[in-house]
Amino acid sequence: MSSPDELSHAAQFLTARTVEDFRSTIAEVKRRIAVAAERAGRDPAEIELLPVSKTVPQERIRLAVEAGLTRFGENKVQEAHRKSEEMADLDLDWAVIGHLQSNKAKDVAKFAAEFQALDRIKVAAALDRRLQAEGRSLDVYVQVNTSAEESKFGMPPEDLPGFLSQLPQFETLNVQGLMTLAVFSTDAERVRTCFQLLRSLRDRTREADPDLIGPGKLSMGMSGDYAVAIEEGSTCVRVGQAIFGERALPDSHYWPES
Ligand SMILES: *Cc1c(COP(=O)(O)O)cnc(C)c1O
Repeated sequence: MSSPDELSHAAQFLTARTVEDFRSTIAEVKRRIAVAAERAGRDPAEIELLPVSKTVPQERIRLAVEAGLTRFGENKVQEAHRKSEEMADLDLDWAVIGHLQSNKAKDVAKFAAEFQALDRIKVAAALDRRLQAEGRSLDVYVQVNTSAEESKFGMPPEDLPGFLSQLPQFETLNVQGLMTLAVFSTDAERVRTCFQLLRSLRDRTREADPDLIGPGKLSMGMSGDYAVAIEEGSTCVRVGQAIFGERALPDSHYWPES
């Protein structure tokens, strides 16, 4: 079996409201990850699931924790910081996966375990300064715009080598690999092209200077397209709606059009 040519972004995702609901949505996502990995001849253990809890209130996140989740991705720093404080009684890891302004670097340095949307040196420098002050380090992914859409954050692919070569000066940043958002389309082949580009950028960097890309992980794939991303080498899928349920607001709300 191969993946569908048509991706469904309009799928009706069940809104999980009980621990049992979460057990079943999580199990289903893990099952699909395993199926996609197998199809690609990969070991499912190579693929991390990062549950994305943006817009989900803490009452429901607590149910997801009871169902076994311990890390969450959030795209807004303020929301992530607030939730980390509301749920400080739980032992959770928070990943910031959305665009960061350098004046918010201070907050990220305080609570985040990971930052996946690094795309400017100014932000790298601000994070490094704050992390030094906190006496800690941070796992980071460099975000690349693989869809050539104006509205997406992340750097153009041609800027990546120069950017990566500047990161070793920031000793508190542990580069884990690359992150991307594919083109928002139901055409699986257009989406696949974005994932293939990220992977080839990773491979070229490894050949040129493996020290610049750490373990060379690839964070790519969301609820609508993670099976395709896994076929193209993803090592971290960021899945929100397929675990928590459909969000009320359209994606354009989170990724401004221009
Ligand atoms: C919201 C979000 C996701 C998850 O999207 P879903 O459709 O809920 O799976 C992944 N990555 C980023 C950067 C996001 O903002």
